[in-house]
Amino acid sequence: MNFLRPVAFFRLFGLLLLFSACAQPESEYYALEDFEGLKKIDAHVHLRKDADTVFIQQAIADNFYLLTIGIDPGGSAGIEEQEDFALRMMERFPGRLTFASAFTVSNWNEENWQEETLRHLQQSIDKGALGIKVWKNIGMTLKDKDDKFVLIDHPKFDTVLDFLAKKHIPIIAHLGEHRNSWLPLEEMTVKGNRDYARDHPQYHMYLHPEYPSYWRHIEAKSQMLKKHPDLVFIGAHLAQLEWSVDELAKRLDSFPNMAVDLAERISHLQYQTLTQRDKVRDFFIKYQDRLIYATDLRASASDIVQANLTTPEEVKNHTHNVWFRHWKFLVTDETMQVPKVSGEFQGLKLPRKVVDKIYWDNARKWIPGIVKE
Ligand SMILES: [Zn+2]
Repeated sequence: MNFLRPVAFFRLFGLLLLFSACAQPESEYYALEDFEGLKKIDAHVHLRKDADTVFIQQAIADNFYLLTIGIDPGGSAGIEEQEDFALRMMERFPGRLTFASAFTVSNWNEENWQEETLRHLQQSIDKGALGIKVWKNIGMTLKDKDDKFVLIDHPKFDTVLDFLAKKHIPIIAHLGEHRNSWLPLEEMTVKGNRDYARDHPQYHMYLHPEYPSYWRHIEAKSQMLKKHPDLVFIGAHLAQLEWSVDELAKRLDSFPNMAVDLAERISHLQYQTLTQRDKVRDFFIKYQDRLIYATDLRASASDIVQANLTTPEEVKNHTHNVWFRHWKFLVTDETMQVPKVSGEFQGLKLPRKVVDKIYWDNARKWIPGIVKE
């Protein structure tokens, strides 16, 4: 009977081991391999045609939920087309995506612009639009009858913005451009902006001194927010203050109804991390309720176009790599190099509860209904 004793001992030992594993508190941090298991939201993508379903397929594989955002292509028909595409995708991939829409300013100088816009917005909201994008054509191409640039603080927008504020519909604002756009190519901080400016000289503001200045765009947003304190404002692309967490913090302090998405600007935070990692990390922790994860993924993104990624597999791999690299930057303290930034920096290793907010809670709080459950 003696031979049973060691068995009993090992059973007891095993039970103790199991108990101690269960009692272990959840780690304060995520690991790289938690990426797939965590439900995440990418709150800024642009899906416009059937080929873009590859982004949705990869979102399913990587446990992402998407907000596809419409833009003003220069007419309300184009906006309806984008809405209808989003609705089709929502039917095909239930629960996986929702959409935000836009309004056009192509008829700005017509008498009935406000009426027409309010009618269109109500229609979009009825279809399920959760937010309304305002785009950089406001401020950078739109002109009044007297040939003056129209920015978002123009009084003619007030009725429209009041309407959205009353309906609690957030505006997602890409107004103006990143500050690099006002610099010569060789002085730009990140490669992505250099590539974009080279491909879109019409938006390279260094070449267009006759256009409103960088600070005029920033000021227009502040003026507009002072007039509309109840409007929920999501500054897309870090509200064009991507180059300085200090400048961004000032605006977040001034406007409590303002949040920002990180779309296509994480490289700028990485650039600041090269020399000021603690400052960037403190910024994330202090403003953990105001930051929304997003990428601006789209088929026409310059990294996709330049690398000539055409097959669905190539686009899916690229999408996975972008998402995974950001995860690595936010959750680990590994030393990293990324395509858009020269030099090495260390990941931010944000606490788990901050990561949860950035990838999930904040988008759901600022854009109610973004994930259907
Ligand atoms: Zn975008």
